[in-house]
Amino acid sequence: MHLPDHDWPEMAPGWVWLCGAGPGDPGLLTLHAVNALRQADVVIYDALVQEKILDWAPQAQHIYAGKRGGKPSAKQRDISLHLVELARTGKKVLRLKGGDPFVFGRGGEEAQTLVQHDIPIRILPGSSAVIGGLAYAGIPVTHRDVNQSVTFVTGHDQSGNTPGSLDWQSISKGSQVIVIYMGMKHIAQIAENLIAAGRSLQEPVAVVTTATTDEQQVLETPLGTIVDDIATARLAPPAIICVGRSVLMRQVLDWQSMANGAPARNIDPLDRGRPAESA
Ligand code: SAH
Repeated sequence: MHLPDHDWPEMAPGWVWLCGAGPGDPGLLTLHAVNALRQADVVIYDALVQEKILDWAPQAQHIYAGKRGGKPSAKQRDISLHLVELARTGKKVLRLKGGDPFVFGRGGEEAQTLVQHDIPIRILPGSSAVIGGLAYAGIPVTHRDVNQSVTFVTGHDQSGNTPGSLDWQSISKGSQVIVIYMGMKHIAQIAENLIAAGRSLQEPVAVVTTATTDEQQVLETPLGTIVDDIATARLAPPAIICVGRSVLMRQVLDWQSMANGAPARNIDPLDRGRPAESA
């Protein structure tokens, strides 16, 4: 693919670029990401980066830094120091992370370690899994009739164990729509917390797994039965979980099903009783 004329930044030896690869579909790579993939000497990538994205950097060495096949995950500090080492050997280093590097991706920690070691950096944002995934599922992350705010939550705290450090009362009351990263392991506890904080058992929830890839699955379920419904559907991570009435919009905006022949539905999922575009 030819990139039209523009002041495309050049990777210099000894630099590390931290780059978001988007949630999966290579079409969601940014042009900056493509520009970087073409120049890198080495690409260090995470488990959530789709391998076919590496085809965009055939000239580069590909180094896997993540958890797969039962192998223990590389330690965060080791990854950061590996980046430092590679940069010091004069390589053009591309650190490729799923989604956006600064959204629940430890990009800030890696970047800080690099800066502390006098390695020059550039940050290239990407489409985060919630943004890309909900769009592919046909769910607007904000919708004027539903929410004036949205809260991004991680289902793991620093220990990786429980979502106990979050103030679920405040989150539940303060945000009509809540989207959860890394929530599958603790979904029972998360659902319990939300319900205890006053969210309805009937509240619509969508679970989107391997979003934007060919394997994407979407489950719509009420909050009250989410645990059983995830088990019945045999859904596995990675998944994003969206809690809120915006999920109802999927009834009319599931564009992937429509592209595959499902009929368009002229209904009003939010029961507004007025045309969608009216003020
Ligand atoms: N930096 C990433 C998030 C990393 S945390 C981003 O901006 O998207 C890892 C979590 O991201 C996963 O547990 C899952 O909740 C979510 N995730 C990443 N890719 C995903 C995908 N293709 N489909 C669904 N969830 C995804």
